[in-house]
Amino acid sequence: MQYYNQDTAIYLDGAFVKASTAGIDLFGQSLHYGYGAFEGLRAYSTHHGTRIFKAEEHFQRLQHSCEAINLPFNWDIKTLVERSYELLEINKLRAAYIRPLVFTGSNMHLTSSTSSNIMIAAWEWGPYLGHNLLRVCTSSVQRPNPKSFRVDAKVSGQYVNAILAATDAIKQGYDEALLLDHEGFVAQASSENLFIEKDYKLYTAPLANIFPGITRQTVIEICKKLQIEVIERPLTITDVQQADSAFLCGTAAEIIGIKEVDHITYKEDWEHTIGATIQRKYKQLVLEEEHYEVII
Ligand code: PMP
Repeated sequence: MQYYNQDTAIYLDGAFVKASTAGIDLFGQSLHYGYGAFEGLRAYSTHHGTRIFKAEEHFQRLQHSCEAINLPFNWDIKTLVERSYELLEINKLRAAYIRPLVFTGSNMHLTSSTSSNIMIAAWEWGPYLGHNLLRVCTSSVQRPNPKSFRVDAKVSGQYVNAILAATDAIKQGYDEALLLDHEGFVAQASSENLFIEKDYKLYTAPLANIFPGITRQTVIEICKKLQIEVIERPLTITDVQQADSAFLCGTAAEIIGIKEVDHITYKEDWEHTIGATIQRKYKQLVLEEEHYEVII
């Protein structure tokens, strides 16, 4: 996958510069220790033009992630949203994945840096896990203990854990991994949140030991509108294996159904699940087509 070409611009510390010439500090704390924070947003080509879904929420979460690890965050959120739209225009992108990254320069000490940099890149990217129903496994790699890491923050170094789990799952022939939390409950996938359906209700892990996904919150909001009950409670492996259906959600993956967990196939036909309804509604929401069915 090529993320940029000779013409691609990125936003770097107040200016739009060529991605191919933007350098990297080999003595940077972020590079050596994973001491950085990032976000993942999606822009959609809607009938009203290009729209970044929940842009402010994502940049607010970036600020929260930085503050959680004492990484200076000295930018105005409204400006970052505006620069993101400009970045899309400069790169002639109508629909894209957007990746802001806050990082630090030279500092080999294990103490917080007093300054930081910001970069925003964008590229065309289809749904991260594809369009097909997934085969997932419960992983032997656990999520970090919330007492050893800020699991509510999107911190670069934390993603080594996600890479270990996802790589192990793929090596075993699965599409994605479900990670347990430190208490042995099923927390989420490597970079998506999990919902299961049982007896016409949805269940998802509570916020304490998971990453607080914006898509997860959006699913809860959609369910509220549709009067679908969502119960937030710790999920056991048996809960997940004996569910009627399940799906993953995240900005990159959007909403994607699971057909099989640990070789157990869900009996419910995906098209008839609550997940499939949510998948359709989510698409309408991000494309600002909520009233589309009524209009046509
Ligand atoms: N969990 C993790 C670990 C993530 O990195 C992400 C984002 N890729 C998610 C869940 C989903 O979050 P969101 O819906 O805000 O994209």
